[in-house]
Amino acid sequence: MVIFKEIEPLKAFLSDKRALDHSVGLVPTMGALHSGHLELVKASKKVNSITVCSIFVNPIQFNNPADLEKYPKSLEHDIAYLNSVGCDVLFHPDRSEMYQKPTTTKFDFGQLDKVLEGEFRPGHFSGVALVVSKLFNIVNPTRAYFGQKDFQQFKIVQRIVDDLNFNIELICFPTLREADGLAMSSRNTRLSDEERKTASVFYRSLVFAKNEIRNRAGIKSINERVVEMCLSEKNVRLEYFAIADTENLNLLDNVKDADRSILLIAGFVGEVRLIDNMFVE
Ligand code: AMP
Repeated sequence: MVIFKEIEPLKAFLSDKRALDHSVGLVPTMGALHSGHLELVKASKKVNSITVCSIFVNPIQFNNPADLEKYPKSLEHDIAYLNSVGCDVLFHPDRSEMYQKPTTTKFDFGQLDKVLEGEFRPGHFSGVALVVSKLFNIVNPTRAYFGQKDFQQFKIVQRIVDDLNFNIELICFPTLREADGLAMSSRNTRLSDEERKTASVFYRSLVFAKNEIRNRAGIKSINERVVEMCLSEKNVRLEYFAIADTENLNLLDNVKDADRSILLIAGFVGEVRLIDNMFVE
């Protein structure tokens, strides 16, 4: 694997490859890689000649400085992990390389960045959109891979691809889970043993809600039961549980079209904030 810390040499390397008609797959990450990230890299390797993984903890998408400070890092392990699946290129820039000048550029996605994560993490998606746009311009990928776990982020990226005419195919990859259903996340490493056991409550809540919708239960009662399930676990604090339209993430108060509905949940286990989601169908 070739490792680049600077933008210009990476651009030159990829432009040579593109001149040979090579396709390029991009997997943007913030590092502390786990098997979920690796599945994205493997999916890219299957169809692209060159796969680029980026590792960059983007400061401007963190609305909480403590969360940025505590974000896990494991570069040596990440490099070994990426090598084990044959990733071709790692792009690992410093903050000063990505933000060579102070930036004030802001994105406004209307309703899409005001609900769910957008409500609890103001400014987060503007920061995500800026760094993803930069990565798209630097790497100029044929395809870019994102996880369904961050479904709202995927919708935001879809929006920038449409609005800014990026000629990139987006792939939304299913969430990889631990044996008890907990969605794999870099943040899971910050959970204590006890917290790790209770953390599957968010997954259990989604499964419960999905079954209840199939049994035609009302959303109000499902919501109450999910709140109870989370409250009954020690150290768990629910931020939101919602059902939304998969196309625009408008919040729903009943499920008319199961194929277009997604359940989303977020909350804290101890000090660690976790999110998860599940399609109704
Ligand atoms: P992150 O490093 O957490 O920003 O994640 C980088 C990419 O990996 C994002 O597109 C995530 O949605 C995706 N991802 C994170 N966790 C998982 C998972 N458990 N399964 C599949 N993809 C994931």
